[in-house]
Amino acid sequence: MADPDRKPGPILRLMGPATAAAAEAESRAWLIHCPNCGFTRSVWDAGGTRYKAAGTARWRMRCPKCGEMGWHRVEKGPDFPTTSGPILPLVLFILALVLLILIATAAVLLSVFWFVGIL
Ligand SMILES: [Zn+2]
Repeated sequence: MADPDRKPGPILRLMGPATAAAAEAESRAWLIHCPNCGFTRSVWDAGGTRYKAAGTARWRMRCPKCGEMGWHRVEKGPDFPTTSGPILPLVLFILALVLLILIATAAVLLSVFWFVGIL
């Protein structure tokens, strides 16, 4: 069982306190329902994070109450926050990640070219 008092992880903290708080609030409002016994807990309590997501998902996992494996339904709870968190830090984070991957790819290619003597 995950720690219910846990704080947002390093990636969410990197995106600023407003984003981290909004992500935690949304993760607490997403509910996981067990198909066997009906046990319900939040994504946050299960140790997960669900942010800027839509619709209903199905996660195959073991229920902590009845112990059965099954496709748990993940859906927005009745107290889902109506105010959405800031989107800009998330966009900037994804852009930074893409840029980082491009730079890493270029560095690998350049070193391979240099190694085989093309450069
Ligand atoms: Zn269950």
